[in-house]
Amino acid sequence: MNQTINQNLGQTIKLNDPSLLQTQAFIDGQWINADSNETLPVINPANNQLLASVAKCGQSETRRMIDAAHRAQKLWATTTAKERARLLRNWYELIINNQEDLAQIITAEQGKPLSESRAEITYGSNYVEWFSEEAKRIYGDLIPAPTANKRLMVLKQPVGVVACITPWNFPNAMLTRKIAPALAAGCTVVCKPASATPLSALALVYLAEKAGIPKGVVNIVVGNTQEIGDELTSNPLVKKLTFTGSTQIGKQLIEKCADTVKRTSMELGGNAPFIVFENADIDAAVEGAVASKYRNAGQTCVCSNRLLVQASVYEEFTKKLALAVKLLKLGNGSDNNTNIGPLIDKKAAEDVCNLIDDAVSKGAQIVTGGARAEAGDNFVQPTILTDVSPEMRLFSEEIFGPVAPLIKFETEEEAVELANDTEFGLAAYFYSQNNNQIWRVSEQLEFGIVGVNEGIISNEMAPFGGIKESGQGREGSKYGLDDYLELKYVCLGGIE
Ligand code: NAP
Repeated sequence: MNQTINQNLGQTIKLNDPSLLQTQAFIDGQWINADSNETLPVINPANNQLLASVAKCGQSETRRMIDAAHRAQKLWATTTAKERARLLRNWYELIINNQEDLAQIITAEQGKPLSESRAEITYGSNYVEWFSEEAKRIYGDLIPAPTANKRLMVLKQPVGVVACITPWNFPNAMLTRKIAPALAAGCTVVCKPASATPLSALALVYLAEKAGIPKGVVNIVVGNTQEIGDELTSNPLVKKLTFTGSTQIGKQLIEKCADTVKRTSMELGGNAPFIVFENADIDAAVEGAVASKYRNAGQTCVCSNRLLVQASVYEEFTKKLALAVKLLKLGNGSDNNTNIGPLIDKKAAEDVCNLIDDAVSKGAQIVTGGARAEAGDNFVQPTILTDVSPEMRLFSEEIFGPVAPLIKFETEEEAVELANDTEFGLAAYFYSQNNNQIWRVSEQLEFGIVGVNEGIISNEMAPFGGIKESGQGREGSKYGLDDYLELKYVCLGGIE
């Protein structure tokens, strides 16, 4: 462990346990510097200050961690489910015991308000708890045989070494959602978190080590994205890639995995519709819209991206939403009063403002916000736009910022058609108090997740994932282990 770096870190992030701030790669149970000794800066997006410098690894370190994970997997797969469950439970408890420190790290490197960071630790750790329990319920099958002298069985076995690539918007939870089911199934993992937010991931891995998870089972590197990605996707020892990130990068990774026919799970981008029907409880719809739109400054894959509002309640909804949004306080996430932090970097803020400008140039009206905020380069004001139409870029592109575009519709058919008019299919929301409409619209929406009269839909007990170009596979729930297990059919013949 590099003491100099650690002392610097202590000044920028105040922690009860400074040893959580790891800056090296973790391979085969060892914390190591990059072979080149190069480092990568980690920046606080609220003030652009340097938080840390982490080991900048490349192909050679990635290959070594894959070899280590391959060696460890043989032994890990032979541990009992009860033992794997016990170690995952230890990890869960350590995460919970260090919740406040882990939340401070998220806010420092990612920018979200501390209250949201604390919630992310709860959310992320719930997957570890859930899969510690599910580890004990990986049942096979006994199939009735077509002839009397045979017995047919199905065994569920771990896929093998799993590569996990994660984004910066939920630097803790996106990783636990992958590592926990992989380990529960008997797989080992090689992880590459986002370059912008490696500290949360390194702290998690440090706690996994403390929990007693054997060396080689969990490994992590950060650094040269292209080199690491190419090795993870081409190395034949990696049997599966689980990726959370943009659709653009996900498509590239699927192509690269094709050469070695790796299994892939893809949690990709979204373009969620949020429909308000005229019979909705408008106050509840406003509350749900604020929660689903402005959480993490609009940087979640399930953020509502297009608010479709029925003409008869359009004005009322717009007024009430504007009142609620004007109350949101923008600032440094470490300030307890802050509701909206910065975007991840200056480019992200510029991209969001370009989407606003494009919409305004094509006739959208700004109700509130509409520009960069005084708080700093990376901040965008919480914004509401009305008179939005499908030819504006933000109708079809993922905004990933605190901008709510309002679109007026007349009929249910029109709303469903507008909602489905996207290549994405992750989350959708609608508010209605009509039971028939609730069934009809739930069934017609082409999305993996539908929130009805609810703006917050994620939890470890439910299957999270998208259809269409939002991905394949599900994380969490009783289905979440399937992606990490192979089915093996055993036919036992010659039975007298
Ligand atoms: P991103 O640019 O696709 O990056 C995601 C991860 O992929 C990062 O670790 C990134 O590394 C890595 N990466 C980029 N290029 C790569 C390559 N050639 N080979 C291997 N890895 C590569 O996405 P992001 O901007 O971090 O995250 C935002 C996106 O994630 C949004 O589209 C959002 O909707 C999506 N998301 C989806 C879900 C879901 O569950 N469906 C959840 C959260 C976020 P670097 O950081 O080093 O570039």
